[in-house]
Amino acid sequence: MAIIGSGISGLAAAHGLLRAGYRVDLYSDRTANEWLTTSRPTGTAARFDLALSYERELGLNFWDDAAPKGEGVFLTFCPTLHNPLIRLVGRFRAPFQAVDVRLQSSRWINEFETRGGNVVIEQVTVDRLGDIAATHDLTIVATGRADLCRIFDRDESRSVYDKPQRNLAMVTVVGGPSRIDGLPLLPVKFDFLGTDGEIFFVPYHHKDAGPCWNILIEAKPGSRMDRFAGVTDGNVAVQRMKEVVAALFPWDEPFVRDVQLADPLGWLIGAVTPAVRRPAARLATGAVVAALGDTAISYDPIAAQGANSGGKQARHLVSQIVARGDGAFDADWITSTFDDFFATHARDACRFSNLLLEPITAPAKELLIAQYGSDGEPGNDSAQQRIADAFVENFNDPRLLTPAFTDMAISRQVIASHAEGRWLWNGVRGRASIARDQIKAKLRRRDAVQ
Ligand SMILES: Cc1cc2nc3c(=O)[nH]c(=O)nc-3n(C[C@H](O)[C@H](O)[C@H](O)COP(=O)(O)OP(=O)(O)OC[C@H]3O[C@@H](n4cnc5c(N)ncnc54)[C@H](O)[C@@H]3O)c2cc1C
Repeated sequence: MAIIGSGISGLAAAHGLLRAGYRVDLYSDRTANEWLTTSRPTGTAARFDLALSYERELGLNFWDDAAPKGEGVFLTFCPTLHNPLIRLVGRFRAPFQAVDVRLQSSRWINEFETRGGNVVIEQVTVDRLGDIAATHDLTIVATGRADLCRIFDRDESRSVYDKPQRNLAMVTVVGGPSRIDGLPLLPVKFDFLGTDGEIFFVPYHHKDAGPCWNILIEAKPGSRMDRFAGVTDGNVAVQRMKEVVAALFPWDEPFVRDVQLADPLGWLIGAVTPAVRRPAARLATGAVVAALGDTAISYDPIAAQGANSGGKQARHLVSQIVARGDGAFDADWITSTFDDFFATHARDACRFSNLLLEPITAPAKELLIAQYGSDGEPGNDSAQQRIADAFVENFNDPRLLTPAFTDMAISRQVIASHAEGRWLWNGVRGRASIARDQIKAKLRRRDAVQ
């Protein structure tokens, strides 16, 4: 078996195949040491329990004791500027983890060699891919969104956008608080501003500094958040991030006031056109190769699905390779294997990501209203808390709640299932509490001015 690419997806598949007894050649454009010393991270890559469970199964969970255990999501929903209308504090059933992908790839490459895998350091070209495919039963291309992904045609029927929906800026920072004031859990803090975009503060494990924060800005093009074009220095990116927080989310300004860039390469700016590609490509030589991870599906990171989907796809692909036995890994097999993965996992991950890129739907708003009052306290078994927890769990498994975000009947069923059948009462209670808290906030602001 040949795998091209040493990101999360390629390495998960490489380890999975090795463990299943295959001979595996991993082609990487960089060494383990280069991942650590001269590479940029490809993303935050926070992974939730379903994806992490495969890494545990493969014995690749080296950071469980060191990395912060992310316990939930703390969402502040602002339909307009300086209007934090709805707050949600939901708990995951099991923690998430975000480890610097540079550290992860470096360690996983070394571990792959220790376990008997063969690593070839080379920038694989399309011509070279033909040679590799000719000498392997199956060649899997997991080179992310880099040039090689263009050999896989875009699947128009599954791709919704033809351009990026957000301009992205990501910085890894040290020097911030270790917790978020007033919360009983360590969450991803997620500020949502309907007019401008979103900002995420993710508990993170940096390759050198250890526990810290990774901050991702998802700016609607042309909005007040969209201030990172042309930035070439990570310190400038951190400064711009602080300006965005101070201007648009002033209540979070103290949180970022003292933070600094964790390392000169620990930041990114860019944009992703969300796309699903055809999973099989035929080369000029006639050989067929398979796409994995970002090469197969590129997600905007708004719903944190890319690395999660890559890991789930790797698990699915490896299990299907094993099940195939001595059968051929031809284009039909590659396509039906991917179609199965898409139907059972990725379709809802894509829909969930795309829904977060769009204005909030009425059924999703209904869920947010119904959970109003959640606080994430461990003993809280209220209907509001259970709805908030269900909302949050959808990041781990987008099959759970994504259908409810576009269908009012399903949304109400979900609310009723957590609220002893009383979806209507829950909606009335939620709306009344939001109105009460809005009035209180207005009075506080008026008192502060007087
Ligand atoms: C700002 C940002 C934040 C994100 N946050 C999250 C998140 O919180 N959760 C989540 O699940 N996802 C997130 N993602 C997405 C996630 O980072 C990616 O989905 C994931 O890293 C993709 O992994 P991959 O292995 O498919 O590809 P990559 O990580 O891109 O790895 C591919 C590797 O292949 C190698 N390569 C490339 N070309 C060649 C070649 N020609 N020959 C040999 N080797 C080659 C390179 O070393 C490259 O790094 C985020 C993305 C971004 C941009």
